[in-house]
Order: sequence, then C-alpha cells, then structure tokens
Amino acid sequence: MTRIYNFAAGPSAMPLSVLEQAAAEMTDWHGLGLSILEMSHRSKDFIGIYRETVSLLRELYGIPDEYEVMFLQGGGHLEFAMVPMNFSVGGCGNYAVNGVWSKKAFKEAQKIGEAAEAACVDLRAPRQDEIKLTENASYLYYCSNETVNGIRYWYTPEVSVPLIADMSSDFLSQPVDVRKFGLIFAGAQKNFGPAGLTVVIARRDLLGRADPSTPTMLDYETYAKSESMYNTPPTFAIYIANLVARWLLDQGGVKEMQRRSVIKSQILYDLIDQSEGFYYNNVEKISRSRMNVVFNLKDESLNDEFVRQAYEKRLANIKGHRILGGMRASLYNAVSIEAVEVLADYMKKFAEAHS
Ligand code: PLP
Repeated sequence: MTRIYNFAAGPSAMPLSVLEQAAAEMTDWHGLGLSILEMSHRSKDFIGIYRETVSLLRELYGIPDEYEVMFLQGGGHLEFAMVPMNFSVGGCGNYAVNGVWSKKAFKEAQKIGEAAEAACVDLRAPRQDEIKLTENASYLYYCSNETVNGIRYWYTPEVSVPLIADMSSDFLSQPVDVRKFGLIFAGAQKNFGPAGLTVVIARRDLLGRADPSTPTMLDYETYAKSESMYNTPPTFAIYIANLVARWLLDQGGVKEMQRRSVIKSQILYDLIDQSEGFYYNNVEKISRSRMNVVFNLKDESLNDEFVRQAYEKRLANIKGHRILGGMRASLYNAVSIEAVEVLADYMKKFAEAHS
C-alpha cells in the first residue's frame, strides 16, 4: 500500500497508527465481540472511552477543573450560532475579523443578536491595540488560525470580557493557557479526529446564561449537565479522537507538536521567500500560519501543471481554497517533517524547471 502525502485542509491527514488500530479493532473491540459502531453510548465501556477522552484532553492542554469539556456536533458553523445564542444576551458580541471564518462567524452573530466588529484587518492578525471593544461588549470572539487565508494570531488577546476562540485549525498544535479563555471551540476534523465531532472547552460559570427560549440542543448547559449525552453523541468519532489524543501524548504532547509545526512551516516559507518571486505569500510575516501555508505562483498559468506534477509524486491536496485560488499546504499534526521536505524539494525543482 502506498499512501499519499496528504496536505488537505480538513478533513485531513490522520496518524497512520491510529488508522491501523481502528482497523484492527473494527469488528471486535477489546475482545467484546462487537464494534464501537455497535456499542450503546450508555454502556459502561463507551462511557469509559468518553471519560478517558475528556481526561486525555485535560492532560494535553492542562485544562483546569473549572472548565467543562464538551463534545458536540454541527461543526464550527453551529458554534457560530451557539456562541451568540449563549453569550450575547443583553450585550453585544464583539468580533475581531481578519479572514473567511471570523467574518462568517460575525455575520451569523448579526442574525442572532447585537454584534459589532472590534477589529477588521486583512492579511494579518490585528495588533492588541487595534482591538476596540464596544461599551456593552459581552465577549470578544476571534479565530486563532484563519485556515483559508493562512493567518495566525501570534498572541492571545487580553480583554476585560470573556474571550472566545475558534481554534478549529490550530487545535492541539501548540500549548494554550486555557485560563485566558471563556470558551474555545474546534471542529475535530483537522487535528483531533473525524468530521462530525466538535470540541468545546468552556468556563463553567459562563454557562446557563442563554435566553430561556433557546432550543435545548443549542444551549451549552445541556451538554455540560449530561456529559454531552443528552442525545446520542458521535460515538465513533469520540473513539477515534481518543486514539488521536493517546498518539499525541506518546509523541510528546502539544509542545512537541508546536516544535514540529515551526520546523515544517519554516521549510516552506523559507523556500517561498527565497524563490525570487516564483512563489509568493502576502501574509505579514509574524501572522503567517503554521498550519496552513498559502502561496501563489507568479505565473498562474502554471497552476494546473504544478498540482498535476505534485500528484504524480503523491503530494496531494495542495490546491488553494476555492475562494482564494492559488495553493495551500496544510501541515497538521499528522503531516511529518519528511512529507514537508518532499514537498519543498518538489517546489524547488518545479521552480528551477520553469524559471
Ligand atoms: N472555523 C475554521 C477555522 C475552519 O477552518 C472551519 C472549516 O474548515 C470552520 C470554522 C467551519 O467548520 P465546519 O465545516 O466543521 O462547520
């Protein structure tokens, strides 16, 4: 079997050992004669997997006891709605907008309650002093890594209201001081497991503030009170996330992921910057994403050829997001340094052959 080098933005590369373990356990989990897919979410065994996954996450991020860890469905998009439903009652959701996903979250919040832009910049993260809260701000929302635009916050904003972060595309890629946040959410499908699972980490005292008319499944408190099992949770996705969390701990945890992501992204940014304009990236240097390296070829007529020849070398899914065009290499935790070196070597040779 020859696997590709998968640079997809999400769903994305998974650790091979996780896939192999899941395959080995698929029809008979731990000698019980049944698959996880066939197991009740109320069973002692599944509750064991669930609780262990929560505690592995707590260990990976050092999540304090006063924070609830919840597993939801509906992806980042549902969080765009649930955040204002739960937290903007009687106030105004403030949004730092600097890319596709923070903009989408802001637009959704405007449909639900009062929402304002606390900052709006392009091709970078706003500086701390550019973030201006409204007087009645109930929270500040930002997206720590703009997946489409390839922009990261290199710092955590400090504000006087609860801080809410969409960490969908840099989840578990670096240490995070959870105490600085009111709520963190992330779709699992980049660094944590299959699509269909969303992780929410929220400060307990902020829950229970949704308007009483809020539908049960859209109130975070429902999940907090029921160990995320008010309804049937995505059991298989939670099981895979459990295997990924164990793999992460085995690899050295989020600090090690950060170390690797610095190396991986630097290989590509150095190559792009030294290509004499053959490739370019317009994001301000300090804001360049370590997870999603976006770049363009100066001669766009070479785009299709670039993607085609890459695929012949098993370098897959490097075409940019349909909104931006160009190229994007996503370097999530399961993408090895070696894979990035193969990509860099290909890019170098392609540039030499076409200069
Ligand atoms: N937020 C970020 C940063 C994302 O990268 C994505 C999807 O790629 C989303 C939100 C939307 O996630 P979903 O498709 O799970 O709703």
